[in-house]
Amino acid sequence: MHPFTYLRARDVQQASALAAQDRGTELIAGGTDMLQLLKDDVRRPERLVDIGGLTGLASVEATASGLRLGALARMSDVADNPAVRDGYPAIAEALLASASPQVRNMATIGGNLLQRTRCPYFRDTATSCNKREPGSGCAAIGGENRLHAILGGSAHCVATHASDLAVALAALDAVVVAEGANAGSGRRIPLVDFHLVPGDTPQRENVLQDGELIVAVEVPAAALTRRSLYRKVRDRASFEFALASAAVALEIDGGVIHQARVALGGVGTKPWRAYEAERALVGATPRSAAFEAAASRAVDGAKPLEQNGFKLELAQRVVIRALTTLGA
Ligand code: SF4
Repeated sequence: MHPFTYLRARDVQQASALAAQDRGTELIAGGTDMLQLLKDDVRRPERLVDIGGLTGLASVEATASGLRLGALARMSDVADNPAVRDGYPAIAEALLASASPQVRNMATIGGNLLQRTRCPYFRDTATSCNKREPGSGCAAIGGENRLHAILGGSAHCVATHASDLAVALAALDAVVVAEGANAGSGRRIPLVDFHLVPGDTPQRENVLQDGELIVAVEVPAAALTRRSLYRKVRDRASFEFALASAAVALEIDGGVIHQARVALGGVGTKPWRAYEAERALVGATPRSAAFEAAASRAVDGAKPLEQNGFKLELAQRVVIRALTTLGA
């Protein structure tokens, strides 16, 4: 492990200023992903600034206008919150489908959105990886790519985004609230615009500016958040990342779908909102024909790699299963 200095931030402003000073500074909170990356020598900060003790960032507030999750709220606390379970079940289900109870007790909401990809080449410093070392190549293209993305990839990177939570948040129109020394306070970024597809800069994974921190995630109250769910398919039943997942939400009135939200996980280089699938559902009767049509639109533009063609079918099946459960 690369040696680093460690200090605890006093407040958001200090953490932001320290992080903006130089690129050798990294922030840490729950540390569940960061510690692994440090031990594997994937991240080599000169200075680690601990924001885990900052006050006022760990609350979970539900009001008539929506849900506000502090960036330092623990995954387990959010999943167990009755207002989240009842009013935003897709979020609670996505959290409970993530990691292990021990990890969920440590990991934070902000950290979950910023976790790095599970591409094994990214985490193995002996291999080529454009995300870890820009310009070095991508060992997954032409290598082991069964777990990789079929949506949003580029010639430089095809790694999936690992977060389950982000998929549910993308479906429910969540907004990331960020503060930073340069960007000013309270910048609001729609979750669907927060993460970036790799393009030719796969090392850049989100739109945060230098020194900018996530302070909260907000989810607007809407008729369909209560009728939402998250389904995930993986190689083993627990402590595993998604091969394909879906967050869906429906507003049904008079036997007709009035509003629909569909987002995919495990198949995209970022949490993948499927707008065409949603358009296919609006105005339809909640029956299998509409769900199958929507599932087919959800994977529009997919480009499977040599070893992951099965994800094309699997993603559609997950969407159909989720919609069928919700529409029943
Ligand atoms: Fe690196 Fe992305 Fe290629 Fe994986 S898919 S080796 S993260 S560049």
